[in-house]
Amino acid sequence: MTDLTEELIERLVRYCAIDSQSDADSPSSPSTAIQLDMQRLLVDELTAMGAQDVTLTDYGAVLATIPGTAEGPVVGFLAHVDTAPQFNATGVKPRVIRGYNGGAITYPDDPSLSLTPDAFPYLGEKRGHDIVTASGLTLLGADDKAGVAILMSAARRMLADLSIPRPTLRLAFTPDEEIGRGVDARLPADLGADFAYTFDGGRVGEIEDETFSADGAVVTIRGVSIHPGYATGKLVNAIHLAARIIETLPQATMTPETTAGREGFIHATDMEGGASEMRLKLIIRDFEREGLEQKGAILRKVCEAVAATEPRASITCEITPQYRNMRYWLEDDMTPVELARESARDIGLEPVSIPIRGGTDGSRLTEMGIPCPNLFTGMQNIHGPLEWISAQDMALAAQLCLAISARAIRS
Ligand SMILES: [Zn+2]
Repeated sequence: MTDLTEELIERLVRYCAIDSQSDADSPSSPSTAIQLDMQRLLVDELTAMGAQDVTLTDYGAVLATIPGTAEGPVVGFLAHVDTAPQFNATGVKPRVIRGYNGGAITYPDDPSLSLTPDAFPYLGEKRGHDIVTASGLTLLGADDKAGVAILMSAARRMLADLSIPRPTLRLAFTPDEEIGRGVDARLPADLGADFAYTFDGGRVGEIEDETFSADGAVVTIRGVSIHPGYATGKLVNAIHLAARIIETLPQATMTPETTAGREGFIHATDMEGGASEMRLKLIIRDFEREGLEQKGAILRKVCEAVAATEPRASITCEITPQYRNMRYWLEDDMTPVELARESARDIGLEPVSIPIRGGTDGSRLTEMGIPCPNLFTGMQNIHGPLEWISAQDMALAAQLCLAISARAIRS
């Protein structure tokens, strides 16, 4: 097979330089118009390489078909075009370090930064690889431009060569994954796949079939607002009550910073307001339904207990579901997971499955009826200036895409 490494580097560098950051505070769909710059480019490139049914949907996703050469299930492949809102993504200047020598990588635009194998041992395994990083002032955006480059390169190769075996494949490039809005209600039907994969994972070999289950919570505290000069015995300060709720919630356990592995948490993400009204936002995470419910119950109990100390205040706690562990559905039919594992072995990799302490587009898609595990791309240190990726890792991911397609016709 021809080596896709150079094409992957070229695509990654070009895609990462395009700002397509999403914005959780925007009500529009997609959340930012700049994401459509990426989408229009993909429409042009997919059309030029001969993909069929190329569409940009009105919810901002790009869909396309790679016609099959054999019978088999319709397999979907997804990557997201938005980059994380957590760090500067404007003016990304990707650079390629050819034949990495195993030493410290420094940054032209921020000399205080350094990427070393001591701090990041996985980098130490990539001696001799071509490493792509940003320049120091921005994230790179390999999350998930790597996934986009992997799918585009694999698609170009399959479309150019009808002798490469595959069933009908459907591609989807989604916006707004980073803000949890990547899967529009119309996407499952528009994708029309029997099962699918996201290319949005990290280390080589990772095939992820478990994500967190996630709820969001908003606690609203209404106090009693009175001019402080006339407040004796009357004013009820919502800030004090909010502080008491935070103080009563677990802090030495059950937070993101005190948990790991399969443990869940309650995480206060936001606190805003004033003496008359306060709003707390929290996220609740656990791998199991029971654990998620227990944590929601703890939050509710704390709110009730604080409310009981001040009957003149009103405290409400609203918990809403966000996404669910994809394992709940995948364990009923492990076909897509097993197909990916066998395909990884076909190209000489040992598959590893580590539960993701987060969610993916695949979590929602799985819940909505299209089983969708997550596959590695190679991306590392995402959402910050030290983000990096090995082009040779990406090439293995592109090979995995081809291997899954080839194996799907036999399954
Ligand atoms: Zn991602």
